[in-house]
Amino acid sequence: MLAIAKFGGSSLSCAAAWQQVREIVTGDIARRVIVVSAAGKRHADDHKITDLLYLCHAHLRYGVPCWELWRKIAGRYLAIRDECAIDFPIEDELDAIYENLSPRTSADFLASRGENLSAKLMAAYLGFSFVDAASWLQFDYAGNVLTDASYAALSSLADGRKIVTPGFYGALPDGRIHTFSRGGSDITGSLAAAALHADVYENWTDVPGILAADPRIVKNPAPIASLSYPELQLLSGAGTQVLHESAVAPVRAAQIPLQIRSTFAPNLPGTRIGFEAGAGLEETGVVGFAGRRGVSMLRILFREEARADADTLVRACLTQRGVEVFHSSQGVEGLCLLLIAKPGQDALHAACDEVRRLLPGARVKLRENLAALLALCRTTREVPKLAAAMEAAGVPVHHLVQTPPGALLCVNDSQYETALRAAYAAAFS
Ligand code: ASP
Repeated sequence: MLAIAKFGGSSLSCAAAWQQVREIVTGDIARRVIVVSAAGKRHADDHKITDLLYLCHAHLRYGVPCWELWRKIAGRYLAIRDECAIDFPIEDELDAIYENLSPRTSADFLASRGENLSAKLMAAYLGFSFVDAASWLQFDYAGNVLTDASYAALSSLADGRKIVTPGFYGALPDGRIHTFSRGGSDITGSLAAAALHADVYENWTDVPGILAADPRIVKNPAPIASLSYPELQLLSGAGTQVLHESAVAPVRAAQIPLQIRSTFAPNLPGTRIGFEAGAGLEETGVVGFAGRRGVSMLRILFREEARADADTLVRACLTQRGVEVFHSSQGVEGLCLLLIAKPGQDALHAACDEVRRLLPGARVKLRENLAALLALCRTTREVPKLAAAMEAAGVPVHHLVQTPPGALLCVNDSQYETALRAAYAAAFS
């Protein structure tokens, strides 16, 4: 068994969290390849190390001294080293970075030092080997990952050893450091898992998995135990904040399951995203909810037979004007498209006028200020129950479309929260 365990910034924010990480890693012999982020926020008003490093870079660029800022960054790592009693001369690393800073230092290089320092310190803490990401994760000059070369490099460097490697960055062909966009350590973890044909990619964070509903609206929603990759895609497409698509793609392509777990509740199983597309997953009727606000619904009704190319034509009109179509369905009487566009947005109205011009025989109806609630269900029999609960809470359902494995229910945007609470209660209590 080989598990790639990636720990995010909140899992590395202070010494207590580092101790927790060590317990998790040493608790399972499969966890032999560790990917780390830079230290994150310790509390809501705190700063992420990466933010401080970008700020440092801005100081350098404008010739403003950054010593005070640097002391803050250094202080965070020194405190972790001392409080965890790690035998590692991190001062040497910190001094080497600071002494070489100049207005020519690149933002990518400086930002990457958070992950670099975390990984060196973590390697010493765990007694693992440090493997620099710059020595295996290779980008082309356009910033695309050279997967084959990167995978080959990591397999030969890791070679069955226990290693810690930094997330978020790699090297360009000329050796300069290049970073992913923010949050990119998730991608590194996924690439490492695919490179090493891991049995699982564990993504350790500060939430106990993907929650069945938005916790800002539903109190203490349950974590979803298991999902298939297509289900995950459906949820994230409908607004659930999960890992970025580029962090999911490498493990999905390599048929490796992804497990999202909380560093602060390691006894909970978290959410497992499996490759088995539903098989072996529990038979719950409703799995979870996601939602998109600020939705508009465009219905195109045909008196006679609909034009075969109507969907393509309408989509072209909308996308040309920057209106995002996130769902469309075609029935006998016409087309229904759900759009992400701000109410009153000129582009949307202009697109509708053009659709009217292009389809003269059709009735084009636009309804704005809606929200679309996605109910992810493994059995369709649950859907009427959810719609009924929403109606009983005084929320009319304007449109309901079954999109296996789930259904989209459109309600007034102003009633979205009431709708979600009613549907959640109907599904889970
Ligand atoms: N430290 C980087 C950031 O804050 C990358 C990461 O944590 O994934 O965006």
